[in-house]
Amino acid sequence: MNTAVKKKTAVVVGTGAGGAMMAKELQGKYQVTILEAGGEFKPFSLSVNRMAKLRPTGLYFDERMIRMLIPNMLVEKTQDMIMVRGIGLGGTTTLATGNAVRYDGALKEIGIDLDEQFNELYEELPVTTDHQKNWTKTTQKMFRLFERMGLDPIVTPKLMDADKCAGCGHCAVGCKYGAKWDTRQLVDEAVRSGAELVTGCTVTDLEITGKEVTAVRARCHGRKRSFRADLVVLAAGGLGTPVILEQSGIPCSRTLFVDPVLCVAGPLPGLRQDRQLLMPFISQQEGYILAPYMDYLSFFFNKDWRLPMRDMASIMIKLADEETGSVSGKKIDKQMTDTDKAHMEGAVKLTREILVHMGIPEEKQFLGTLNAGHPGGMLPLTEAEKETLHHAALPGNLYVADATILPKAMGNPPILTIMALAKKIAAAL
Ligand SMILES: Cc1cc2nc3c(=O)[nH]c(=O)nc-3n(C[C@H](O)[C@H](O)[C@H](O)COP(=O)(O)OP(=O)(O)OC[C@H]3O[C@@H](n4cnc5c(N)ncnc54)[C@H](O)[C@@H]3O)c2cc1C
Repeated sequence: MNTAVKKKTAVVVGTGAGGAMMAKELQGKYQVTILEAGGEFKPFSLSVNRMAKLRPTGLYFDERMIRMLIPNMLVEKTQDMIMVRGIGLGGTTTLATGNAVRYDGALKEIGIDLDEQFNELYEELPVTTDHQKNWTKTTQKMFRLFERMGLDPIVTPKLMDADKCAGCGHCAVGCKYGAKWDTRQLVDEAVRSGAELVTGCTVTDLEITGKEVTAVRARCHGRKRSFRADLVVLAAGGLGTPVILEQSGIPCSRTLFVDPVLCVAGPLPGLRQDRQLLMPFISQQEGYILAPYMDYLSFFFNKDWRLPMRDMASIMIKLADEETGSVSGKKIDKQMTDTDKAHMEGAVKLTREILVHMGIPEEKQFLGTLNAGHPGGMLPLTEAEKETLHHAALPGNLYVADATILPKAMGNPPILTIMALAKKIAAAL
């Protein structure tokens, strides 16, 4: 008699912050198949200076063209901002600047305690502030200025190997030196433990029979395929997961947040902020953060950004916006509310003051393009789900484990918090 017990199966959709962590944690307990819409991530490898010389020709007229330079970077437009996300192995974490910030206040408020998971993450991942030892004079000066202005800057904890960092400033277009950690390493771990990875496989919808998902339907390299599993985890990101749910007859709420980003910049010849690790430090303000950040989208596509990168200063504002947007099919509906605009105005005023202290008069300063890269919140966890971490609207064997379940906009880097939440979900299963 064959007494072998067949291992249960799981399908995990997406390989970003939530998906990769789920796949790594579940493989072993389950036999995992990972479905990823994109392919291998390729960092931007051309010379920024050479590409910048083409700016006056008008070649760069639409931000969506960035995909010609960085195939894994998907840029979409809403009514008043540009949305950026990563499609491919590692999801948006390959485009991230490596910030590893714990920001789980809203989850704590609804009774979800992630202490244990964060402690595990600090053990398992290369979270470090070591990069401070390599700071350029410009970074050091900016940090001291923030301190003098009472803005309480903190050295940003980063997911990286500081010794490998070349200080090229290209963190957000892919690190070609292997200094930055991203979730491709978790996918590798899962695959080494026996998980199956299917790339070029876009999940379209779920077949639901009664209260169970009976198949995950996808288009893989142009062919329709169907995957069956005991457990299904959606982690296609804040703009990907709600669309799969909608196509499966499970509507999400109109509570999309995106953390809008606006850079304020100005001329400072020879500053060389382009050779600075992006976001080396962060200043937490009420409802937003400030950090030095050279904005590539504005640099290439915004007509006000005419200067060479080496001769400009740029400071990012990242705002916790009101949860008022949605995504449906291919359409993203997201606008700044009056409250968002008022908060942004206050943040711009303060940022302008910083630049004045750096020696850039207000009349010479200019704004970047409003953009955002932290979408989430359309199936927010509530107190009712604090034990199960399973939304009542979902079939019993379907979980969501990405930014879609975050209850509130953070205005802060979410990767670490999403991974902690994914770990907790995996442990609960
Ligand atoms: C330029 C930039 C810099 C950033 N820097 C930081 C930072 O330093 N620190 C930080 O904490 N956060 C940062 N973020 C935000 C962070 O990267 C994201 O919030 C985070 O990765 C979201 O995780 P996720 O699992 O929800 O989705 P994602 O990481 O976006 O992963 C979604 C995955 O699903 C796949 N997918 C999508 N649709 C489908 C489908 N239909 N079928 C199959 N697969 C699909 C995608 O290819 C992707 O692999 C940054 C974002 C941007 C744009």
